[in-house]
Amino acid sequence: MSLLAGPDGPAASSGWSAEGPRKGFFTDTSICIGCKACEVACKEWNHNPVDGPMEILGSSYDNTGELGANTWRHVAFVEQGRERIEEARESGRRLVSLGMPGIGPKPSGPRGAVPAGDLSSTDRTPPDTPEFRWLMSSDVCKHCTNAGCLDVCPTGAIFRSEFGSVVVQEDVCNGCGTCVSACPFGVIQRRDDGTVSPHDEREAPDERRGTASKCTLCYDRLVDGEQPACSATCPTQSITFGETEELVEDARERVADLHRRGMTEARLYGANPRDGVGGTGSVFLLLDEPEVYGLPPDPQVPTKALPQLYLRTGLAAAGMAAVAALSFLGARR
Ligand code: SF4
Ligand code: SF4
Ligand code: SF4
Repeated sequence: MSLLAGPDGPAASSGWSAEGPRKGFFTDTSICIGCKACEVACKEWNHNPVDGPMEILGSSYDNTGELGANTWRHVAFVEQGRERIEEARESGRRLVSLGMPGIGPKPSGPRGAVPAGDLSSTDRTPPDTPEFRWLMSSDVCKHCTNAGCLDVCPTGAIFRSEFGSVVVQEDVCNGCGTCVSACPFGVIQRRDDGTVSPHDEREAPDERRGTASKCTLCYDRLVDGEQPACSATCPTQSITFGETEELVEDARERVADLHRRGMTEARLYGANPRDGVGGTGSVFLLLDEPEVYGLPPDPQVPTKALPQLYLRTGLAAAGMAAVAALSFLGARR
């Protein structure tokens, strides 16, 4: 357990009324087409500049590479051949035989998300291409239940919102960068520059320069009753926004459905409240192991060990004081 989250849920533990349900994302990578509309919508809404000259990386058709201070959504492209696809299916089968991910019937009731369009009659079965495939996955801040970035921020610039999300106030951030090393996912970064123009056309940087920066779960839209720009834009509903509890139920049903269709590689990421960050507000359905997508397999909030650390430090200090006292007394005899 980290410092700023408890069993009542992250918002309630931070002093908000426990009445509001936690909000988050379910990103179903099995139906992502890699169009990057989510990435563009995020940049446009948040006035985030491009990260480079917009050339593809060379290692894949991706052109942004990773999440960063100016890229709060990043769509990864991962190319796989027959052998890796088989290994992914086998590792997924092993997870199910261990009882993970948990799958079961979906309880009735509305999800609470606002869909980008009605795709209920659309066949959402991913193409089964056993010889070759592209995995595409739109990554984002996990809005952790136990958020390392929030725990360590010395200025209070990072806060837990009433929706359970983790938000940075750029006008309070002093740019110390402590949060950057406390994020187990490598999400939050500091801005080199805060302008909205391309690198070669920049003149004066704006006040966001040097501050820590990441996805806000579109806090400014949520308080107005809107859904985030990225989920509103996704044409396949690979990204859905809503109440976390209901999204996780949907995600479990989707995994069960894909397994019935033979895609045993499907698994959930972030849906386990007993993991090292207490579960996340952004839950993902992956088609291979987390490392394949650049995600840590067992993320741990760094502040988890603080109570033991303080105890050991106290014991060590007490031991040193006792030794010093004994030495002093011995010297007087
Ligand atoms: S993923 Fe990183 S930046 Fe996002 S809430 Fe968790 S610790 Fe903070
Ligand atoms: S929720 Fe908003 S800030 Fe976060 S990735 Fe989506 S569009 Fe960007
Ligand atoms: S908008 Fe949707 S389909 Fe397009 S890249 Fe993003 S998550 Fe994938």
